[in-house]
This record gives sequence, C-alpha cells and structure tokens, in this order.
Amino acid sequence: MTPQPKAFSADLLSLLACEFGADLLLDEAALAARSRDESGLVRQPSAVLLAKSEAQVVRLVCLANELAGQGHAFAVIPRGAGTGLAGGCLSPLGANGTGVVLDLSAMNRILDIDTQSLTATVEPGVLTGDLRAAAKAKGLFYPPDPASLATSTIGGNAATNAGGPACVKYGTTRDYVLGLRAVLPTGEVLRAGVNTRKGVVGYDLTRLLVGSEGTLGVITELTLKLLPHPKAAGCVAAVFADLGAAMRAIIAVMTRGHLPSAMEFLDARCLGLVGDLLPFAVQGDESALVLIEADGDPDQVRREIDGIAAICRELGATNILPPATTGTKEGEAGREAIWTVRRSVSTRIHEACAVYIPEDIAVPIGTIAEMVAALPGVEARHGCAIFAFGHAGDGNIHLNLTAQDEALRPRVEAAAVDCVRLALALGGTISGEHGIGLVKRGLLPLEIEPVSLRVQRGIKALLDPQNVLNPGKIFPSEEEEA
Ligand SMILES: Cc1cc2nc3c(=O)[nH]c(=O)nc-3n(C[C@H](O)[C@H](O)[C@H](O)COP(=O)(O)OP(=O)(O)OC[C@H]3O[C@@H](n4cnc5c(N)ncnc54)[C@H](O)[C@@H]3O)c2cc1C
Repeated sequence: MTPQPKAFSADLLSLLACEFGADLLLDEAALAARSRDESGLVRQPSAVLLAKSEAQVVRLVCLANELAGQGHAFAVIPRGAGTGLAGGCLSPLGANGTGVVLDLSAMNRILDIDTQSLTATVEPGVLTGDLRAAAKAKGLFYPPDPASLATSTIGGNAATNAGGPACVKYGTTRDYVLGLRAVLPTGEVLRAGVNTRKGVVGYDLTRLLVGSEGTLGVITELTLKLLPHPKAAGCVAAVFADLGAAMRAIIAVMTRGHLPSAMEFLDARCLGLVGDLLPFAVQGDESALVLIEADGDPDQVRREIDGIAAICRELGATNILPPATTGTKEGEAGREAIWTVRRSVSTRIHEACAVYIPEDIAVPIGTIAEMVAALPGVEARHGCAIFAFGHAGDGNIHLNLTAQDEALRPRVEAAAVDCVRLALALGGTISGEHGIGLVKRGLLPLEIEPVSLRVQRGIKALLDPQNVLNPGKIFPSEEEEA
C-alpha cells in the first residue's frame, strides 16, 4: 500500500498558500507527479512548491525552521526532474513524514555562457542536454553525460554527482562545478567556490554540497567549467563471445595507452532486450557488446579508433562494426544509432520486469572481469536474472536484478546485497553514481566505517540542526531509528 502523507493542518496550508500563492500546488495531479522518481518507490508529498526564485526557496526553508521550533515540523525535499534512482527527491517516511516537495524545474535559465573564460552560469532546473547543446552552439563542451541527459536537471546532476559514459575520460559532474549558490538548511544563502579554474581558499564547500543528495543545501545557481568542443569523435562497436572476453578487451584497451572518451558494455540479456534497435544481428546466446569511443582531432580519432579495433580483434571480437565517426552524415547516424541502443537499456529492463532493483556498484577496473564472472553464481543462489551493462571504463557496472513475480522480491533484494558484498570485497563501492537516497541507506554501514559515519552525521547536524532539509536521506533520521 502507498504510504499516505500526514495531513497538513489547515493553518499551515493557509500560511503556505498565503506566502506562495499559485506556486504552491496542492491538487492531486501535481502531488501524484512528484510522488515518484525512477527508484520504483512512491511517497506522496503534502504539497509542492514550484519555485521560481531563490527568494522563494529561502522563505520555504525559513518557514520550515520557524515552524519546527513551534512543533509543526515539515520537511523540505528538493527535486529536479525526478529521474533519480535512489528515492532522494521523495517525501520522507517516519514521524517527520509531512513533506513539501521543492520543485526546482522552473528555475531553468542558462544565465551566461562565457566564451572567454569557458564557463557557464545556470539555474538548477536547466536540463543537462539543453546546456550541452547551448555550449556546443558556441563551440564549447560540457562533458557530463548521464544517460538521462535529455530529462535530468543540472541541479539534480550536481546533487547526485552524476556521471555518464564520458566520465572515463572527463570525470563526473563534480569536476565541472567551479562554484555554486545554495540555500542552507537554516535558510541562509551560501556562495561557495570560485569562477576560476583553480582556487584553494578555505574548506571546499562546493565539493561537499555536490553529491550531498539535497541534504545539506538547495542548489540555486551553478558556475560550471566548459571545455573546447572536440572536433571529432568516433565509435567502435565490437561483439564478444561472452562477457568475460568483453571485459578482458576493455582492460587491454585501458592498459595499452588509450584514453577513450567512453567505454560501455551490454551483456547478452541486455542485447536480447534492445535487439530490435541494433543495426546488426548478434550471433550466440552469451554474446556481449562493447562500445568504445574516442574524441579529439580527426586524425587522432582515426588513429585511436584503429588501435582500439585492433585490440578488440586480437582479444577475440567476433564482429566489429565499421567505425562510426563524426564528419559524415552516415557516420553521425551510425554513432547516434549505437548510443540510442545504449541509452534505451535501463528503460527497457524497467518495462520488461515486474521486480527491478538497479544496483550501480563500481569496482577497480582491473577486477571487472572477476566481478562479472561471479554474477551467474548470484543468479543461481537467489533465482533471479541479472542484466549487466554500464560504464566499463570506470568499473561502474549497472547490475539490474530482476524477477517476473513480485513474490520473489525478497530473493532479488538478497541477491542485491550479495552483489554489493562482492563489489566491496574487490575493493569497490556500493554506488558509482546513483547515490544512496532512501533505497540504499541500509547498505551504508557495509562501506562507511563508524568514524566516517559519525563525521558525516555530524556535518548534517551542524548544517541542519532541526533536520528540515531532505531528512532521512542517506542516513535514517533519528526518529526512524528510535
Ligand atoms: C534512464 C535513466 C538513465 C540514467 N542514467 C544515469 C547515468 O548514466 N548516470 C547517472 O549518474 N545517473 C543516471 N540516472 C539517474 C538520474 O538521472 C541522476 O541521478 C540525475 O542526476 C538526477 O537528476 P534529476 O534532475 O532527475 O534529480 P531528482 O531525481 O529530482 O533528484 C535527485 C537528488 O538530487 C536532489 N536535488 C535535485 N535538485 C536539487 C537541487 N537543486 N539542490 C539540491 N538538491 C537537489 C534531490 O533531493 C535528490 O536527492 C539515470 C536515470 C534514468 C531514469
């Protein structure tokens, strides 16, 4: 059953309506639209503020603090586009269950693209794809490219430190946030970071807020680093007889002096789901697909692509598509077709399976072959099916654990814990990019030692003494633990 929100008192409702007028949304459709993200959880909020300005954000957070002091607590939950996979933008559970979702999607202006300093200044609701397109139109490049880039926001990307295929060469969102403005959980406005490429003055609060999943501040503006746009890019798509062979090829490419701009893979189960989109037929039940991209000057791209294709051949690729490079219409179309296949995978898995738990462990690159070799054992132990794909060049493997019957959910959950333990045993981490939110809170102590956990909780308590901002995310709130 869907947990219902605690009803707001009539006084509180009229106070908020008086403050925010038509920007406070209370109708069923508005609440239902903010009661989900892509985690599969459903938590209906009590109200939604569709913020249009930083001043409104400040006012909402200040009210939450004032009323908490008077015993009328409500939580403020920042939300971008709701594409998160961890439940981070959903209303909280527990005693403090009354929540106002703070929807930042309407604060979506690109304020400036500075072609001399190579920076962009944006509001948090700008869609990632829109910023990339606007930068490209000026010959500039914003590299972070989560597969959700057409629908996710820069604010959400910063709050989750999103990465994507380009991460293997260019790093994650955190590497591009030079500075930001944020409304702290007390309602004060913080300006952190710099407009410069470098800066080492004081503690790095920018990097603290990036990846904090909306628990330490509401990001209201970001200054982002841009790069010159690469002149060309090319993609090698190679099929291997099995996943192990594919992973060995990936390690070989990485260790023989190449620096691809993307390095992705799809296992046989994923290939089965997106087969209709593939521009070629895949032979063999166990086959795996590797996508490797290089960018830079056209000559350099050609050399890299040839070298990478040669390594794939040497490592036993059973089929290598003719390289698709930018510069020609066919090349662009071929490249786009391949990336469409890659970006469609998680949606197709979600649609195809009754039970779907997306894990995104990351392991040291040298151990990815070992990690994937352990997966059939997990499937056999728990009776579930694992779809594996993702950012092989970062060792960030999206393990989608599935079953076709809701009754099997506990077994799928046990399999997920098994996978996480395997990743940790290999020196990995439980989340490469999706974050902890609500869904992975229970796993946190498996990775984070008690001292670190105490420091992290201390930071939260220092910045948010009344626990009004996104309570219960990352760590259970004290009320829940009581
Ligand atoms: C098909 C698909 C593919 C995906 N691929 C990738 C991928 O390749 N890489 C990847 O990293 N992720 C991926 N994701 C996950 C998701 O898109 C990212 O986590 C994304 O960064 C979330 O952005 P959002 O705007 O939807 O944020 P939301 O889902 O709305 O929120 C996510 C978190 O950020 C917080 N938040 C949002 N805005 C703000 C703000 N302005 N200030 C403070 N906190 C805020 C929320 O409270 C929440 O904790 C994918 C998801 C889907 C559905």
